[in-house]
Amino acid sequence: MKAYFDKIYKGTYKEFVQKLSESLDKEKKEFIVTANPETFMIGESDPAFDLILRAAYTTIVPDGIGVVKAANMLGIPLKDRITGVELCEALFSLLDDKKKKLYLFGAKKEVVQALVKKIERTYPHIEISGYTDGYVQERERVMEEIIEREPDVALVALGIPYQEILIDQYYDRFPKGIFIGVGGSFDVLSGTKKRAPRLFIKCNMEWLYRIMSEPKRIGRFYRSNIRFIKKVRLLQRGAGHED
Ligand code: UDP
Repeated sequence: MKAYFDKIYKGTYKEFVQKLSESLDKEKKEFIVTANPETFMIGESDPAFDLILRAAYTTIVPDGIGVVKAANMLGIPLKDRITGVELCEALFSLLDDKKKKLYLFGAKKEVVQALVKKIERTYPHIEISGYTDGYVQERERVMEEIIEREPDVALVALGIPYQEILIDQYYDRFPKGIFIGVGGSFDVLSGTKKRAPRLFIKCNMEWLYRIMSEPKRIGRFYRSNIRFIKKVRLLQRGAGHED
């Protein structure tokens, strides 16, 4: 897991958005993984996802506060959280300014449709090159469509690690574009699900709000976070010899 921390993006949110803006201008491909403790724990147990996290062509950004705090404990100072929802919003603004193309893949049909409507209203210069909900039978066909339509940004919201593994399988074949697995972000961005109130975000308690509003997450959250904390402590004591 140490390798993930060594690799994680260490600049500010603003610097990262600037980097994406330049990549859009140069049509440089990007594959971004937004990380919370669960992301790293899945990486530890799923070899395909582990390879993605370690790959030279992927960028890991610290989405969850747990990742930021753990990095600091390990002597890796991180400046900002860079969340999936905020990245999506920054990319929408950039695409609108630059009159570029967006593809959305994932979430329930009514959610992705509501998000498309909202984007059309708010960012009139974005060209939506296509969208598909995340419950279609043939995910492969959707990926082929993304290759054909050549969007400048493709957001894939199918949950970790499926979204990243799918992007990875096709990554060589995309001629250009910024690819991000954004988990539940479409639910929030479409207005279907509320993000935590500002106060929770400011106090770094967004995770608590998420658990309170979706109690079925408690088991999953507890298991991965306890394992994560144990692992970070081991690394801190210098006992985590693997990288
Ligand atoms: N989802 C989907 N197809 C599926 C399973 C899930 O499109 O077969 C969507 C789901 O509707 C939600 C997102 O994937 O919008 C996963 O959200 P979650 O908050 O669970 O993300 P994670 O925490 O796994 O990143």
